[in-house]
Order: sequence, then C-alpha cells, then structure tokens
Amino acid sequence: MDINKKLVEEALKSRNNAYAPYSNFQVGAAVLTEDDEIYSGCNIENASYTPTVCAERVAIFKAVYDGHKKIKKVAIVGKLGDYTFPCGVCRQVIREFCTTDCEIIVIKNKEEYQTLKFTELFPHSFGPDSL
Ligand SMILES: [Zn+2]
Repeated sequence: MDINKKLVEEALKSRNNAYAPYSNFQVGAAVLTEDDEIYSGCNIENASYTPTVCAERVAIFKAVYDGHKKIKKVAIVGKLGDYTFPCGVCRQVIREFCTTDCEIIVIKNKEEYQTLKFTELFPHSFGPDSL
C-alpha cells in the first residue's frame, strides 16, 4: 500500500481515540519516522484547558520516546470533510524533529487528502540549527 494512504488510514483510525469532551473537535495524526516506523496520536483535552495536547504532538512524542528523532511525514485529520492544519505550537514541535524534506498530509476523508512541504507551511522558522 502507498505509504501516504497508510498514514491517512492510521490518522483516521486514531481520530476515533480522541478525548475531546470540551471542544468536540476530534483530531487524529500519524507520523512516519525516518526509518519508516509509524506512530499515531489523538488530541487529549483537559478540564483546565491548558494541559490539552494536540494529536500531532502525541504522535511525535511517542516516536521520540521510542528513539525516533527524525520525522519525514505528518498526516492530520480534524473535522471530516475539511482540511485541518497543524496549530502554531505543533508546527514548532514538528520543526524540532522534521527532516529537511518533511511533508504534511492534510486529510478531508479517506479518499481526499493533500500533501504540502513542511517548509511551505512554516517558512523562516526557528529550529535546532538556529542556535
Ligand atoms: Zn497543535
């Protein structure tokens, strides 16, 4: 199976695990590491709001915890039928761990998704090489 399609399916599946009782905005994400492992995540909200974490960060942190510090693709699905793009905080976290050719896949549904270069989404960014 095409890897982008596989990531789309994983993100859609992960969306079902979202804990979003406050916003009712369920998000799923799946990331592909440089060595072709897939990690997925969902958004996890909190009654005090601030500790809420996005699906993309859950997936990335799971990968990093397992020792995968380079991410080459991030697939994201929020509201079905609409494209959901990563928030500013997630863009910065993706920036920390992305490969130079990292791609973002935004998903409308199982059949409709689009791929963008991460640098298009987050140009002139600050990252590890900026220090
Ligand atoms: Zn986010």
